[in-house]
Amino acid sequence: MAVLESNTKPLISITKPLISISIIGHVDSGKSTLCGQLATRFGPLNKREQDKLTKIASENSKTSFALAYFSDRTEQERKRGVTIQTTLVEMETSKFRVNFLDCPGHADYIKNATSGCKQSDLSVVVVPADFQASCSVDGTLKTHLTLAAVLGSKQFIVCINKLDEIAAKNKTDLETTFDAASAAVGKLLKKLGVKLESVIFLPISALNGIGVFKGGDVFPFYKGFKPANPEPGYELIMTLEEAINSQKAPSRPTDKPLRLPISSVCRVPGQGIILCGRVDYGSIKKGDQIKILPIDLTAEVKNVQAHKQDVEAGISGMNIGFSIITKDKIKYEAVKAGDMVGPAIDPEFMLYPFYTISAVSLKGKAKSGQDEKGIKAGYTPVLSCGTSNIATKFVKLISAQGKDTLVEDPTIISKDQRFSALIYPSKQALFESYKKFPFLGKFVCRDSGVLVVVGQISECISEEKAKSTYNYTIADATGIKPVGAPVDKKGKK
Ligand code: GDP
Repeated sequence: MAVLESNTKPLISITKPLISISIIGHVDSGKSTLCGQLATRFGPLNKREQDKLTKIASENSKTSFALAYFSDRTEQERKRGVTIQTTLVEMETSKFRVNFLDCPGHADYIKNATSGCKQSDLSVVVVPADFQASCSVDGTLKTHLTLAAVLGSKQFIVCINKLDEIAAKNKTDLETTFDAASAAVGKLLKKLGVKLESVIFLPISALNGIGVFKGGDVFPFYKGFKPANPEPGYELIMTLEEAINSQKAPSRPTDKPLRLPISSVCRVPGQGIILCGRVDYGSIKKGDQIKILPIDLTAEVKNVQAHKQDVEAGISGMNIGFSIITKDKIKYEAVKAGDMVGPAIDPEFMLYPFYTISAVSLKGKAKSGQDEKGIKAGYTPVLSCGTSNIATKFVKLISAQGKDTLVEDPTIISKDQRFSALIYPSKQALFESYKKFPFLGKFVCRDSGVLVVVGQISECISEEKAKSTYNYTIADATGIKPVGAPVDKKGKK
């Protein structure tokens, strides 16, 4: 699980709408540098802090990483110059409270990038002017874009970065480089079904703050982005700040019951446990009666904190920490990341053994001559949904998108194919359907660290329904037949 850590700046206005923005792209594109640059204006990175980071960076012989050190905070990240965790940084523009999620671009840390992509309303895609490595088949960019497009980003702002390097070499190449890099990323986005008219492409230098802030330096060749449906009196978008502020405020559901996936549990000596996570739906406040599943712990909320201060309530979209009072000491000690918090009384807050999914396979077939390596029934990757990661069996393939038609009961799913399946998590977990709780009904599956499937939970399925609709039972999934079940001819139960 990625640790989402917050900085300590307690200035956040609660009157402005909240927007979550993931910063994605291949390793070394300049994502962390951009995050640091943004924090100099919209966040807590003042001159004194910058000087401190510059000193640490030069001690590590990585002077150019000073801004990146703002969101790369662990010693390992700083020494290697690589983002490992998705870091949550809270900032504020003139229009929005922004949760920036700086996602790791290194292929080894895709799992951590997933949590950032799942939470974002908007993605800022950072692509270096030297874009070939990013856009190659092995580049993480394609995986990041797939994650963002399937898991929820509704809008993309593509920043072609490091154009200062091109400018230093040959100014006439600037526009050509920008156009070529934009076209390469546009091609990837189009394949994912993203409408290119609404994608904003900007030339920037994260390191030098060019094309980042309104009224600041811009690359002279850039004439600006004209919105798809411009309102009277609109201005061309020239910088990232304007591009972010041109977005519509995301609608936050307030009419749904509480759903809060726990992302981490801190055990504080003398104070008990503090549960941390993002309120995805509803609200939570002191005195509320809550239930935590799957451990089935009922408790009362003792206090709620945000930005390390007590707050009256945690509402949808907020990252909070809270403590609880309960008589059940054994279950209290067993609460863990991945569990889900809901209201104590909500008949729909319950566990199901099966789920149906609608998904896309990213898993390729092996080269001819080897075994087929598409997805078959019985495949058991690790599924990450909400904050839980659970080995989950694809017990039945229901249908797959063929060339022109839908194929029922397919035997194998190949790369880039859309399909639906019945799945069975090996441990109890609370997943919700995408239709009812869109933030919670999105998932990814990994196999030995490689992303293999992304998709949505279509429906929660009881055992009765699995039996009547799919002729499938828990005993079929586990291979353990109930005592007294008919014995087959080979003597197996
Ligand atoms: P990330 O892995 O995508 O987060 O990339 P980093 O932010 O860690 O940056 C990787 C390297 O690229 C560092 O040496 C940065 O100084 C450098 N870099 C980032 N942005 C720019 C830029 O706009 N211009 C130049 N010349 N270098 C940059």
